[in-house]
Order: sequence, then C-alpha cells, then structure tokens
Amino acid sequence: MIEINGAEGEGGGQVLRTACALSLITGEPFHITQIRGKRAKPGLLRQHLTAVEAARTIGAAQCEGLAMRSSELTFRPGPISAGDYHFSIGTAGSTGLVLQTVLMPLLLADGPSRLVLEGGTHNLSAPPFEFIDRCFLPIVNRMGPRVEARLVRHGFYPGGGGRIEVDITPAPLSPIDCLDRGVLTAVSGTALWTGLPPDVVEREILAAREVLGWPEEAFVERRLSDAEGPGTALLLEATFEQGREIVTGFGQIGVPAQLLAKTAAERMGRFLGSRAFAGPHLQDQLLLPFALAGGGSFTTVKPSQHTRTAAMIISLFTGRRWSFEQESNGATLARVH
Ligand code: ATP
Repeated sequence: MIEINGAEGEGGGQVLRTACALSLITGEPFHITQIRGKRAKPGLLRQHLTAVEAARTIGAAQCEGLAMRSSELTFRPGPISAGDYHFSIGTAGSTGLVLQTVLMPLLLADGPSRLVLEGGTHNLSAPPFEFIDRCFLPIVNRMGPRVEARLVRHGFYPGGGGRIEVDITPAPLSPIDCLDRGVLTAVSGTALWTGLPPDVVEREILAAREVLGWPEEAFVERRLSDAEGPGTALLLEATFEQGREIVTGFGQIGVPAQLLAKTAAERMGRFLGSRAFAGPHLQDQLLLPFALAGGGSFTTVKPSQHTRTAAMIISLFTGRRWSFEQESNGATLARVH
C-alpha cells in the first residue's frame, strides 16, 4: 500500500488524480491523507469526488473515505474495463480534470472507450477544452493511441452544464522527443462569451492586442447560446511547426475583463520569448504519458510546483524518475529515466 501525504508539494487535486490513474495502471493500492491539504477549502470537493468515482468505476476499485470534504481515502484498484462511460460532476467542476484522471488508464485498456463528461469546460485553474483538444491530445496521439474529443456544450463557473465527449482507441505509448517547436506559423485570439455586455469582450480583445501587438484580424468574438452562460474566456493561441500553446484568461466575477486579458497576454508573451516546446501547464500534463511510455523528453519552461509534485507521485508508483536540466538557451530539458 503506497502512502501519500496530500499536503506535500503542490498539495492540490492533481496529487489525487495522478495517484488514481497510476494506481489503476500499476495495480498498486494507495492511502492518501490530508487530501488537497494546501488549498483554502481542503478535502474532496465535487469535482475531485467525481474524478475518484470515475476512476473507481472504470477500474472496479474499492474505496474507503469517498465522501464530500473527506481528507483521507484508501483506493484499491481492480482490472480496468474499456466501455461507454458517462460521468456528471453536477457543478461547474472541470470536465478536463476528470478526463485527466481516467484517460491514461483507458488508453491502456483492452478495447476502445467512449466518455461523456458533464460539468465545466472553461474553468479557472484547469485545462479548457481547446487546450486538451489542440495542445495535449495531439501529443498523446503522436505517441500511438487515437483520442478524439468533441465539445458539445460550453460550461462556465458557476452555472456548469457543459458537455464533452471523448473517443479513445488504445495503443501502447511509444517514447517521443519534443525538443524543437519550430517557427511560429500562426497566432489567434478567440473570445468566447455569452450573457455579458458586448463591450466587455471588446475591452478584453483590445487589452490583449495592446500587450501582444497581434493584428485585429487575428481575433474573433464567438457568442455562445444564452443557455451556456453567462461566462467568458479569452483563448490566445500560438501555432508552431511542431506544437501549439494556448493561454487562457477565464472570466471571473469581480475581475475586470481587461485585467484577465492582459495577464493572459503577458503569459503568452513570455512563452513566445522562450525556446520551449511545452508551456507551464502542458509541462505537468505531459509527465504521466511520457513516464508511461518509459522514455522520451521535451523542452519546457521552468518546472512548476505542479510538475515537481506530479514527478514525485510518478516515481512513487513506477520508480521512473524525471530530470529537469537547464539548457544554454534558457529552456529546461525534461527527460524521463
Ligand atoms: P485544487 O488544487 O484546488 O484541488 P485542482 O483539482 O483544480 O485544484 P490542481 O492540482 O491545481 O487541481 O491542478 C490543475 C491542473 O490544471 C494542472 O494539471 C494544470 O496544469 C492544469 N491547468 C490549470 N490552468 C490551466 C490552463 N489555463 N490551461 C491549461 N491547463 C491548466
């Protein structure tokens, strides 16, 4: 039984999600205490509960302590079953993070699966749908499996109600190297919005253009149906010959639209100024598939606390170690051993 202190390192939900995925894959049970111990509202919230329930369902696992606000959990995995699954979070909790929990186990299952996930699709502190679809999945697909995702309905905080569907065709994960992103071939900005005064969206775009200097034609406003909102997200996308980065500003109650757009644009500016293949979020999300492939490397920006924590959990379950070496051009080379 692997013992995990959920307050160590980043101390958030990712520790638990990574542990569930690896437990199903390796067959090793685990016991975690102080779940999300470094968060203002620690313990299992709706989204984490759904993620663990999803892991339990696909892997016939036995759980003790699986309840709202629980800070301690024992997870004993069974065999992973491919199939058609439908998991509904019931709040605006992130569908992307539930996907993060079950995708790798289902990729290694003995047949294709179809997932329907309901909840939030564009949440603060979680990968928005476009990031999963356009930044993360293309790399997983390059490693062998075939994963296709569709956004059926947007879901923003606090309304939720979003829906994504994911088709998964398993294949062994092969090691790859993602070192050079190649030259920048396109930039774009998409402002998703509904249920807000239109000038909020115009201000968002202006603020991003001011920081990045991207032309007006690079931006589009996409008004969603009233039923999907209210909500807004500004997606800034940079396409390179070999990869892609999407930086998102999520609308938040009480935060001016210009500020969220400026912050996102500054982040994109820093990434464009680096030589890295993977940005700060793709970085922690690539660790699991690369570790499961048993090799490979990618260049990235400075390792985040999320990344170091995920690397620690991966090493607990698999014995595989990540190294992060700074290169002369300022990028970091992340390599699994
Ligand atoms: P908590 O820590 O409150 O439990 P959580 O369950 O949302 O929150 P974290 O441990 O903070 O989880 O992990 C969040 C995950 O979402 C990480 O994998 C991170 O890279 C990813 N993420 C956060 N923001 C973005 C973003 N803007 N774009 C892409 N991925 C993101």
